Amino acid sequence: MKNTIKKLLTLFIAAAFVLSGAGCDLNGFINSLQSDIESAIQSGLEQETGADGDSSATDGDSSDTSGVGDIVTDGLSIHFLQLGNQYTGDCTLIDVGDTEVLIDAGSRKNSAATIKNYVDKYCEDGVLEYVIATHADQDHIAAFVGNSGSPLRTGILYQYQVGTLIQFNKTNKTELTDKGNQTVYGEYLSAVEYVKGKGTAVYTALECWNNENGASRSYTLGDGVTMQILYQKFYEESTSDENDYSVCMLLKQGENNYLFTGDLEKKGEASLVEKNDLPKCKLYKGGHHGSPTSSTDALLSVIKPEIVCVCCCAGSAEYTSTKENQFPSQAFIDRISLYTDKVYVTTMISEDGKSGIPMNGDVVVSCPDGKNITVEGTNNSVVLKDTEWFKANRTTPTDWQ
Ligand SMILES: [Zn+2]
Repeated sequence: MKNTIKKLLTLFIAAAFVLSGAGCDLNGFINSLQSDIESAIQSGLEQETGADGDSSATDGDSSDTSGVGDIVTDGLSIHFLQLGNQYTGDCTLIDVGDTEVLIDAGSRKNSAATIKNYVDKYCEDGVLEYVIATHADQDHIAAFVGNSGSPLRTGILYQYQVGTLIQFNKTNKTELTDKGNQTVYGEYLSAVEYVKGKGTAVYTALECWNNENGASRSYTLGDGVTMQILYQKFYEESTSDENDYSVCMLLKQGENNYLFTGDLEKKGEASLVEKNDLPKCKLYKGGHHGSPTSSTDALLSVIKPEIVCVCCCAGSAEYTSTKENQFPSQAFIDRISLYTDKVYVTTMISEDGKSGIPMNGDVVVSCPDGKNITVEGTNNSVVLKDTEWFKANRTTPTDWQ
């Protein structure tokens, strides 16, 4: 979208310049050109957001690759965000030229401001072409909801125009607490109703997999990058483990593959491997924040990851006081070490245990040409095994010695 506007404005200025030199009736010309620009912008917005409910507007290439003049191509960048507090949660931004995909918005409602500040550096037009909500746990959806604010809530779903929202098909959550108050999941459902009212196409991962109701299994993001929704059986089967309902997605850019599995656990990973022909992956988002119960060898031995990024608050006792199981866990590290030592972590717990401080910081994986990948952290780019935190808290696996 932003390129379309830029091109139209450039044309507008160039035309005005030429006409002023030729002594034409500039005012009349400008007025008619302005209205053309406004209607072009409006139709572009409707097309990108699927406002007309036509699936063809949302299942194709939403980037502008067919316009006049030079196309600005920024390549692909994948950003694992710090969330501004001491709580583990997920939020990943994928930026492909003018197209943005946001996967999850953890970790708490007040992370919305932190996320928005970051996303706005890449999303200049207020439009998130795609949003994925992997599953209904608070550390993945709370900042979609945000806090009450005026005139709008602060949540990501209230702050951006969303083209297509792809979400989990099942959950064990309830909309209301025992006392009748809305749960975070209940508030998420309200936010989904809100974006539907604004024209967002909302699909489940199962609808995507089945190519039904306007949803698509594969979306072209631009610059030769496609987003493929994968299948795993807990899109349809019930389980007591909420994490296993996670939406799984494979991003493809030429020969490079990037895998996102939310908080999928062992049983979900086994199904993912069984039901998809998974390729070797350049990047794998460390499953379930580096939990000992995810990133099983059944998955790793197939995808053989070269870079692993973990969204967590390293060493936090939020989920367990057993140090070796705190994210990123020793068991996770031991299994990953068989494939790579390029492991990056967004956040770590402060010495007093009260706040989250940057480890690598926001971790940015970039691939402008479809071949060479770079990884950079906004705090530093030190791999996990070389950090002070690792040396003090983890045992070095044989393959990393
Ligand atoms: Zn989680």
